[in-house]
Amino acid sequence: MRASKAVQSPRSKVQSPNRKIPEIHISGAEGLYEKSDIERILERYIKRAFKHPKGTADKVVITIEDIKQMPRMIRSLPVSTVKCRTPAEGKVIIAKILQSIGIPNRSIEIAFEIIKEGNMRGAAIITAEKGDRLEPDRERGVRVSRLGINKSALKVLSLRLSKYGIDKDVVKEAVILASKVLSCKNILAEVCVSDDPYYTTGYVASKKFGYLRIPHIKHEGSKIGGRAFFVKEVTHVDEIKDYLEKKAVMIDKVAPCKGTVSINEILGNNYI
Ligand code: AMP
Repeated sequence: MRASKAVQSPRSKVQSPNRKIPEIHISGAEGLYEKSDIERILERYIKRAFKHPKGTADKVVITIEDIKQMPRMIRSLPVSTVKCRTPAEGKVIIAKILQSIGIPNRSIEIAFEIIKEGNMRGAAIITAEKGDRLEPDRERGVRVSRLGINKSALKVLSLRLSKYGIDKDVVKEAVILASKVLSCKNILAEVCVSDDPYYTTGYVASKKFGYLRIPHIKHEGSKIGGRAFFVKEVTHVDEIKDYLEKKAVMIDKVAPCKGTVSINEILGNNYI
């Protein structure tokens, strides 16, 4: 599902039919589901498009596709929450995590800048070492699709998250997405800040530390958000894009989840 809203300047009321009307991205959602679940899921997606805190969509595009390929089965990333009180502290925590897996500050700053700009539908792809942007369409970014979790794994994930009071769709959807992203062999890490003005918990995900939630990554009311994936330097972007957009990936096993931990505990040895 893709929901957007046209933004018209006062002078642009009469427009040629060929002119592209500027729009803001309101919301998007995707998943792999059984045919019998489609109606229920569609209802959820439509509600999201029309009741999103970013505004009401005036265009909603829904695509339903029969996926014939057998999905790759993966384990979800372990989930924890890092102690964090302010956006400034959150940025430092994310930078420390990324630096500890070898990503230089210059590339980390590029990701923060992209997220600050906002209004992408997808994610930016940044080479870890040099900070080069690889995604072919910089306005759109790369949209991760064809991802899901089977019913028994979803039950286990819900149960584990509920122990820490975070069994919410927004958390589960992001964990599923980050688990697919990090299952791509050339991706080292992901940073995400939601563009929902009332959801202020971001995350940094990596193969080494799993999915780390960062509360207060932005101030309440801010519509700014985005995603960035850090990739190995010698990478063919088409291969990554193809994996993220086209390869069907399902979670069938769930990693353990932890409660709130400090950045020092995480950076200490044997965290996971
Ligand atoms: P959200 O976490 O849904 O608030 O999304 C935050 C930002 O992440 C959006 O503004 C997009 O730039 C990006 N994003 C959302 N969904 C996807 C996706 N499926 N694939 C890649 N990027 C996404």
